Amino acid sequence: YFVPADQFDEQEVRITGEDARHISRVMRSRVGDQVIACNGQSLDVLVEITELAEGVVTASIVETLEQHGEPNLFVTIAQSLPKADKMESVIQKCTEIGASSFLPFLSERTVVQYDERKEVKRIQRWSKIAKEAAEQSHRSRVPLVESPVSWKQLLKQFADYDLICFCYEKENGHQLRDVVQPFAQSLTADHDHASHQVTRVMIVVGPEGGFSEQEVAAAEASGAVATGLGRRILRTETAAMTALACIMYETGE
Ligand code: SAM
Repeated sequence: YFVPADQFDEQEVRITGEDARHISRVMRSRVGDQVIACNGQSLDVLVEITELAEGVVTASIVETLEQHGEPNLFVTIAQSLPKADKMESVIQKCTEIGASSFLPFLSERTVVQYDERKEVKRIQRWSKIAKEAAEQSHRSRVPLVESPVSWKQLLKQFADYDLICFCYEKENGHQLRDVVQPFAQSLTADHDHASHQVTRVMIVVGPEGGFSEQEVAAAEASGAVATGLGRRILRTETAAMTALACIMYETGE
């Protein structure tokens, strides 16, 4: 369970809200049962329940745990805002696979009309999905879900990344393997990379109608690599999870 840092002290953790209800009503846990609590900032602890009250579970810290679930690679999924609830599926699946942040964006052929008045609620819902997926996958951090940005703002963010895979189904040259294998080898060759800054990768996926040629040219001019994901056209909500799984595989993460 992800527990806000201010509900942790040296010996005890207080789990409240939906998580407390989940522990007592869904898991039917009892005093003496053990669960794992994370502060979302890379501290994972095994705790033993000492008290179950309405909406509050108190537990004492048994031991600090080593972290297994977090990749050494920071991968951002930049997804052109898709229709209906497809973004939810992208967030859930990519969190399980190991994404560290989500950046929805609006591009030329984005079909949905983005209603800013609903933004707060939408981000809350997406963040909840990320939290639940991170818990189920035993991650130590909950991926950050950002508010949607414009195409121009997206291009500016490219400067913060070591590799930008710009998924483009008409790309005949670079396939994902051609881009990621040398990148993964360069990470292995740099034995110290784990002790340096975290390597940052961005996967950029277009909307249902794809990217325009101008967008592809602008992305390449800003440092992205147009990348094919194979001979079949994937749905927009399938592309990011496919690319992410391949990147995690090639980098051993
Ligand atoms: N019409 C389908 C839909 O409604 O989802 C497919 C849309 S496809 C054009 C959407 C995005 O997925 C593309 O802009 C691209 O980023 C990515 N994509 C899909 N298949 C791909 C492939 N084979 N190679 C690279 N990118 C791909």
